[in-house]
Amino acid sequence: MPPGTGETPDAGGAGSAPAENTVGSIASALPSVMATDYTGTMARKTIPRGGDSRQPKRRSSGSRAAPAPAKARRRPAPSPPPAALTTWTPGEVEEAFRRFRAANPAPRGELAHQDPFTLLIAVVLSAQATDAGVNKATPKLFAVADTPEKMVALGELRLRELIKTIGLYRTKAKNIIALSRALIAEHGGRVPHDREALEALPGVGRKTANVVLNGAFGEPVIAVDTHVFRVANRTGLAPGKTPFEVEGSLEAVVPEKYKRHAHHWLILHGRYVCKALKPACGRCLINDLCRWPDKNLLSV
Ligand code: SF4
Repeated sequence: MPPGTGETPDAGGAGSAPAENTVGSIASALPSVMATDYTGTMARKTIPRGGDSRQPKRRSSGSRAAPAPAKARRRPAPSPPPAALTTWTPGEVEEAFRRFRAANPAPRGELAHQDPFTLLIAVVLSAQATDAGVNKATPKLFAVADTPEKMVALGELRLRELIKTIGLYRTKAKNIIALSRALIAEHGGRVPHDREALEALPGVGRKTANVVLNGAFGEPVIAVDTHVFRVANRTGLAPGKTPFEVEGSLEAVVPEKYKRHAHHWLILHGRYVCKALKPACGRCLINDLCRWPDKNLLSV
């Protein structure tokens, strides 16, 4: 929580007023009670991920976990928001991210890791699992295998034992051993700072590649998981029918200076405030900007 964050947005009035009229009227700072919902302290809680926009399913048949070449993907034009939702103005987008940054200037991911390799492994393990669940398993795993070489030496069976509390652990163990071998054979045992090379690794899809590019290499890319997907569509900020489309919409509207942390701000907002079943609109930082017609400003 940064200092000087004492002003309270008028949640009720602001939330019910048209966004265009209230952008400049919201506090430049946050009340302490609200700010706690936007800081790293909330990283302790996680909820199961739905899987609707998680890892792309790869190589569902057969037992091979060989790398597949990454395909160049042509991004569709961003979808317009649903008819009921008006498009955000650049000033409103700027204001929303200004508030996210004021509340949490240096957001961090919730997956425990030490370096690019352990981040990559943690993200692969997190597909359709909770970050909390992954964080319970990885300390023991990384104590014995924190490099591709050690992971290969550990072997698939022992790896399975160490991650068996995580969903889909058999498939994940297979992919982790295969991707560790690929890192040794093709990248000198290092995680490549390259999207295509990352996506070619077993078990690594676009979202995982984006998380690694952002978290390990500081690239201003925005990984779209189930929370980011929901927030982008529900608010009308960056609509899209697929995670890939939403990613493109976010790329188009988020100012450059906010892209480095946009993924974390949106994921934390979706996980702890703009929740799937019961969004807490009453303590939402951007309730005056949000276009969702069903917001309940009494919900905190
Ligand atoms: S919690 Fe979500 S739906 Fe509610 S006002 Fe905030 S962004 Fe909109």
